[in-house]
Amino acid sequence: MRYIEEFRDGGVARKIADRIAAEVQPGRSYRLMEFCGGHTHAIARYGLRDLLPPNIEMIHGPGCPVCVLPIGRIDNAIALAQRPGMILCTYADTMRVPASKGLSLLKAKAAGADIRMLYSAADAVRIAQQHPDREVVFFAIGFETTTPPTALVIRQAEALGLANFSVFCNHVLTPAAISHILESPEVREYGTVPLDGFVGPAHVSTVIGSQPYEYFAEEYAKPVVIAGFEPLDVMQAILMLVRQLNEDRAEVENEFTRAVTREGNLKAKELVADVFELRRTFEWRGLGEVPYSALKIKPKYAAFDAEARYGIEYVSVPDHKACECGAILRGVKKPVDCKVFGTVCTPDNPIGSCMVSSEGACAAHYTYGRFKDTEAPATKDPQ
Ligand code: SF4
Repeated sequence: MRYIEEFRDGGVARKIADRIAAEVQPGRSYRLMEFCGGHTHAIARYGLRDLLPPNIEMIHGPGCPVCVLPIGRIDNAIALAQRPGMILCTYADTMRVPASKGLSLLKAKAAGADIRMLYSAADAVRIAQQHPDREVVFFAIGFETTTPPTALVIRQAEALGLANFSVFCNHVLTPAAISHILESPEVREYGTVPLDGFVGPAHVSTVIGSQPYEYFAEEYAKPVVIAGFEPLDVMQAILMLVRQLNEDRAEVENEFTRAVTREGNLKAKELVADVFELRRTFEWRGLGEVPYSALKIKPKYAAFDAEARYGIEYVSVPDHKACECGAILRGVKKPVDCKVFGTVCTPDNPIGSCMVSSEGACAAHYTYGRFKDTEAPATKDPQ
């Protein structure tokens, strides 16, 4: 298949690996964070770490939309779904994220709540049209990639005059999370992991472009290479980061030129700007409260804002005591550092959010790497 198979060629991957091995400087370490769960999944699935020299450390970032959703937001969604006559619609992975009191959306559905799994936000509008006598809420989650479709359905609902449709908006923003990882008060609690550079998001960057990362390169002197989700994309991005670090450069480079431009998708950005505005703060699982890191629906579309319509109040809820998702999402621990990894916590019985989606670091390690995890625990530098 064009644009897939040619980016999975093992022979080419080994050639890039040879180049990386030839160019890394002995005695120097290269600590690279792959921000996105898609990259984490590709690294685990294709065994890319086995191709890299030992002085390159790949550190998982928080770019898995399901993983960063805090328990309190799932609790809010369950409470909505349990209202009489309500239909709650959401994307499939969200269904299994653990919530309070041993619940999840899937368990709430089993107990009788009308919760529907969707592949597309547009399906939620269709369901609202089919059930004019019921209230329908779309539980919207995700990074900049899934935000434009949510904006579109709100505009569509307005155009259709749908009075029984609203959106519980939980969309979050990538650049704010990267800033937070690099510099935030919470590093005192978790420690911080020294980072030398970033493999930048693929799908997110198709929407926002490469320009927003220029700030990190300049302000924090960290190179960023935007990469696609195929194995050769990731290997090539690692080679580009090694070269930048060797040459003492900190720039934004774009490996994913087949889909990402500096400006991004202007139409999608205009659509998002019309419907959403910044929240002053938003809690991320693992990162805590992150200023200006999420979106809410603008007052002009308040009729479609479930938070306003149903008076949703957010209550922060701590993670399960045994769960290390918070530290994993910050890159300071790895899945194998969690005592319940692969024993009590598995993809069939997730205790934390990182074990739910295939993009979650724990799920990726469990599926592809748990039998040969010989990695050393991540370095922790107490502040
Ligand atoms: S193994 Fe499970 S409980 Fe442990 S950090 Fe991962 S998701 Fe959380």
